[in-house]
Amino acid sequence: MTAASAMVPPGSTIGILGGGQLGRMLALAAAALGYRTHVFVPERDSPAGQVATATTVAAYDDLDALSRFAATVDVVTFEFENVPAATAGHLAALRPVHPGPGVLAIAQDRLLEKRFLNGIGVPTAPFRPVATLPELEAALAELGRPAVLKTVRMGYDGKGQTVIRPGDDPARALLALGGADGVLEGFVDFRMEASVIVARTASGDLAHFVPVENRHVHHILDTTIAPAAIPAATADAAVETARHIARELDLVGLLAVEMFVTADDRILVNELAPRPHNSGHWTMDACRTSQFEQHVRAVCGLPLGSPERHSDAIMKNLIGDEVHGWPAILAEPDAKLHLYGKAEARPGRKMGHVNRVFPRASFA
Ligand code: AMP
Repeated sequence: MTAASAMVPPGSTIGILGGGQLGRMLALAAAALGYRTHVFVPERDSPAGQVATATTVAAYDDLDALSRFAATVDVVTFEFENVPAATAGHLAALRPVHPGPGVLAIAQDRLLEKRFLNGIGVPTAPFRPVATLPELEAALAELGRPAVLKTVRMGYDGKGQTVIRPGDDPARALLALGGADGVLEGFVDFRMEASVIVARTASGDLAHFVPVENRHVHHILDTTIAPAAIPAATADAAVETARHIARELDLVGLLAVEMFVTADDRILVNELAPRPHNSGHWTMDACRTSQFEQHVRAVCGLPLGSPERHSDAIMKNLIGDEVHGWPAILAEPDAKLHLYGKAEARPGRKMGHVNRVFPRASFA
């Protein structure tokens, strides 16, 4: 093993960039395995900061603060992929960073990501880079309508994207990008959105969770159904796709692969997230190893845990005011409530989730 892939044993400190709910659940899983955590986050009283051993509140471009942070941790990981390249590069010169800056660079740029995927034989929606109106018009002529115009960078939960339908003015859609580089995607007439989460260690071991179905409301994940009701051959193809991508990325950590399942059961990859993912929250209460524990194991060079599911599950996000339903959820025998410690229930804000679990009769 190289120094960068040496085992980081329990008792060590894991540095986590980002302070949201993913960082919070990662820190809790790390603590359960005897690790300390140090969260680096620009905001005070973050969900992750509330449960971490230590917190640095500083901007992601504060190189001095990053150096001090790195000096206190044994390995660095993150809970979001839009970590600035300079930040990841600075940290990587000081400590092992998993997944590495190269994986981040691909996952934070939709064009690079799609070119990488197509280059390793993984199909995506057809796409064209567009920066100007003539380019957009030419791309629309090729891909047809409807089509989806997205920002190349910094898009999530449907932010930074517009559907261009017949009759819509492409100039308006381009304006909505606010001058950012764009990518036009052909519209996929999918029958299901699905995802597969796979973990990979530095020594190349892989473990995946079963493919799940994801239902969105207003572009935000609302419900995950585990397992996805798709034919076994389609599920196998989805899993093999995710494992192939993880290998080709030389990933160390966790990778969520968001996919479209077409009417004729083809798999098209939409997005990669090299971190724990909302569509993996069900694993906390339905699998032998949760996605968060698996991420800790992978980045620390421990053996991966069994991703086997002992229960089927339905994960429901509690978004905005939905969180106020917590007393009724606590009274449900099959429900497991997770709250993120966010004070204010703003519309569209992920406040918590509930896993409703159904033990599998066949599980021995
Ligand atoms: P994204 O920001 O790429 O994750 O997209 C957010 C959501 O928009 C997806 O989960 C889909 O529901 C929808 N969507 C994105 N791209 C396409 C596409 N090319 N065709 C159809 N629907 C799409």
